[in-house]
Amino acid sequence: MSNGVQALIDEFGVDAVISGSALAERATSYWDSSPTKAKALLRLTSTEQVSRAMRICAAQKQTVVVQGGLTGVVAGAVSSADDIIISLERMNQIESVDAMDGIAVIQAGAILQTTQEQLAEQGFLFPLDLGARGSCTIGGTVATNAGGINVLRYGMMRNLVLGLEVVMADGTIISSMNQMLKNNTGYDLKQLFIGSEGTLGIVTRVVVKLFPLPKSRQTALFALESFDAVVKTLKTMQTELAGTLSAYEVMWNNYYQSVTYEGAHKAPMNRDYPFYVIAEAEGADPDADEARFQSLLERSLENGDIVDAILPKSTAERDALWVIREDFDPALPAYLYDVSLPIKSMSTYVDRIETAIAAWRPDATCLVFGHIADGNLHIFTTPFEDGANQKRCNEIIYGCLDGLDGSISAEHGIGLDKKSWLGDSRSEDEIQLMRSLKGFLDPSNLLNPGKVIDPR
Ligand code: ZN
Repeated sequence: MSNGVQALIDEFGVDAVISGSALAERATSYWDSSPTKAKALLRLTSTEQVSRAMRICAAQKQTVVVQGGLTGVVAGAVSSADDIIISLERMNQIESVDAMDGIAVIQAGAILQTTQEQLAEQGFLFPLDLGARGSCTIGGTVATNAGGINVLRYGMMRNLVLGLEVVMADGTIISSMNQMLKNNTGYDLKQLFIGSEGTLGIVTRVVVKLFPLPKSRQTALFALESFDAVVKTLKTMQTELAGTLSAYEVMWNNYYQSVTYEGAHKAPMNRDYPFYVIAEAEGADPDADEARFQSLLERSLENGDIVDAILPKSTAERDALWVIREDFDPALPAYLYDVSLPIKSMSTYVDRIETAIAAWRPDATCLVFGHIADGNLHIFTTPFEDGANQKRCNEIIYGCLDGLDGSISAEHGIGLDKKSWLGDSRSEDEIQLMRSLKGFLDPSNLLNPGKVIDPR
């Protein structure tokens, strides 16, 4: 037991500190089942405790990795044997809901899905939603500026955060728990920490914006013959559904086939259409909303924009549609990519990567899906072969963005995995400013060291 770990046990009690074999029982992440490596994992219960822990760690120049639900895909929360992990899993409560102002104060360790459900019971929608909802935490979604399936209507996590509380590397608590939409009093400090992936401060509490719970929800899976039809139908739905469109998830044929084969998910419709879309709208007038949604789909079928459609009649039927988009395990193992680029460049981009992948290896595939309204594509490439092909796949997926005004990370962040590619999407001056901020806020490089950028 190192002196540092003993000091933390003395401060917080043996129950708060997990180490040795108990720590090894915890998996590195959702994606990596190998044992967690760290000197110890601290389970703290308040911002004040996190502050005290950081003071102890700072005095010993002890590096710290903060962990949430461990569902991130860029190795942004992976620890080394030399780190202390701070977990906020015991800070998992909704502290308060203010119905008049439509806000909630939530602790960083709260699970997203639990938060959504508890707020729904009080008549509120918390609209951030993503496949990892059952594991990911509010703090993690702030630290990574998570996106997901409802961004086209509600924005990314950044758009939903009004205020937050952060513990700095030296233990200072910055309590910036603003509750108003408007507050132009100097620099908006919360923005520094949202999306900083745990490298600038530890988010412990968050004020979020809530929305009224929708009274109606319409969902459809439909098939289309061309990418032009996918874009045209998106625009039609955005225009004609009066701002109620909340999701528009596109799956290219090869992705759809990769998750609906025999023994995987049941294919809800013919597997041979070039494109599939799951669209969802949420409104406040059930009868009118349903009629408008159905009539739009009927007209789109009549004019040939869409060529097949399923409207689920129950929650179970709806879930059976969403599972093909959200549970992509049948397509794994593969390398998962997350890029963004303007919609107008998407066809060119997908042509480029398909050509490059085919030229590289005839047996290789790239499966495409994503949130196209956000300019966001996800891509799976194979063969996986235990990571041996990652370098070549990276070169293809990121290299093909050249000249298309895209980004190597739309919503997954940089972490460790994309660090060497950051310069593809950010100028040297931008990276230099990031380094300056990191050096100023965390001069000893204690917080999540090695992630996003290296210090000067
Ligand atoms: Zn996504």
